[in-house]
Amino acid sequence: MDYSKRNVDEAFFEAMKMVDLISKDESEISLEERTWVAETTYENFEQHINKGFLEYRKSVTETEGIALTDWSGQGSILKDILGREFIDMLGGYGLYSPGIRHPKIVAAAKAQLDRSPQYSQEMLDPLRAHLAKVIAKLTPGDIQYGFFANSGTEAVDGAMKLAKMYTGKKGFISTLKAFHGKSLGALSLLGKAVYREPVGQLLDGVRHVPYGDADAVEAQLKAAQEVGEGIAAVIAEPIQGEAGAIVPPDDYWPRLREICDNYGVLLIADEVQTGFGRTGTLFGVDHWNVTPDIMCFGKALGGGVIAMSGFFASAKLWKVLEPNPFMHTTTTGGNPVACAAALAQISVLLEENLAGQAAEKGEYIKSKLSVIKEKHPGVLTDVTGRGLLLGMVFVDDEVGFKVVSNLFKRGILIAGTLNNSQVVRIEPALNISYDLIDKFLVELEEVIKSL
Ligand SMILES: *Cc1c(COP(=O)(O)O)cnc(C)c1O
Repeated sequence: MDYSKRNVDEAFFEAMKMVDLISKDESEISLEERTWVAETTYENFEQHINKGFLEYRKSVTETEGIALTDWSGQGSILKDILGREFIDMLGGYGLYSPGIRHPKIVAAAKAQLDRSPQYSQEMLDPLRAHLAKVIAKLTPGDIQYGFFANSGTEAVDGAMKLAKMYTGKKGFISTLKAFHGKSLGALSLLGKAVYREPVGQLLDGVRHVPYGDADAVEAQLKAAQEVGEGIAAVIAEPIQGEAGAIVPPDDYWPRLREICDNYGVLLIADEVQTGFGRTGTLFGVDHWNVTPDIMCFGKALGGGVIAMSGFFASAKLWKVLEPNPFMHTTTTGGNPVACAAALAQISVLLEENLAGQAAEKGEYIKSKLSVIKEKHPGVLTDVTGRGLLLGMVFVDDEVGFKVVSNLFKRGILIAGTLNNSQVVRIEPALNISYDLIDKFLVELEEVIKSL
């Protein structure tokens, strides 16, 4: 084989350079090396990832000179490679519920890494089976069986397959502004034209109704029945995340349960973002005591340490996967390191009462924000969400963007995209200290005053 047209030597040299660098003790990395990382990261994004990001990221546009380069973190503090520090009010979009690098979760993953990082694909894997048992005990009702994957999107895709196989129907009812992931399957459920239109034809038979409107779901099910179009499932987020922390009316989930039962349709709760304590209860549906037929998990499941997701359902549904257990598979999903991290995550969740902390701290932030809102009604118009999945609604996109970028300049990382920054999400680690919350609130009010 002639590899002369490729740069095999350079590939080896470049690979070794980064491996050597990350193998060093933090104190042994020179300023020159750090600057090299920051600068080449920018170039590599430009040349090999996507130039587009360089215009959208605050970490590039709001820092003079050298763009911020993700490097290390602990708890609710993020550090770039040059040592610049940020208070993390974004929590990796809900990934870091137990904080960054929670010591117990890191220790469990490391211990398993030293034993066996992946499974053989043939022997029975004890950690996966044990984790499924633990989650079955944690989830409501008769939810008992689970399948593990790597991303939330895969969990949603798997849930869709299970619903279609169990019911023999192809349709889904999803909600406007919903976010369920961006694979072709999950994207079909997503409720925003901007991500759907350029892709063209998606899955057949998906209908979208306004979120929080149970009557609209019922009307669609009635219409589908009348024209003989089968609906496999209704899917929704317990509290909409990406849409801006939207809490539905209190009777929404109980009514969805009732309506789905009446029409013989499955109910899927996408708990990828709301699961494992985020909204102040173990799961989002726990606010309304509803047991869905299928639950999807992701983000915080792996404790912010390893990518991990899964979908769970009752034994009744799982029967369709039993005759051929290879109907749905993954080589790396639910690997032992991810399962070790997830088991440790759940122990931390329960030991530190993260759900209770989210409920309490969410209320605290909301009460402080309502004071700020009253003082500055022309800037902050509303506060949405529950637990530590909160949204600050600003008068318009531009003001929201200014708040986000000014907070960024003051060392606070918070979510707000250029596309839609009217609603800025507050989604920190559930065990963030009151001290850091107060620092954030002080800076926020300063920024709002300055506008
Ligand atoms: C983030 C998210 C997903 C997708 O998860 P990925 O890990 O990004 O694939 C799906 N559903 C909800 C509700 C989410 O918030």
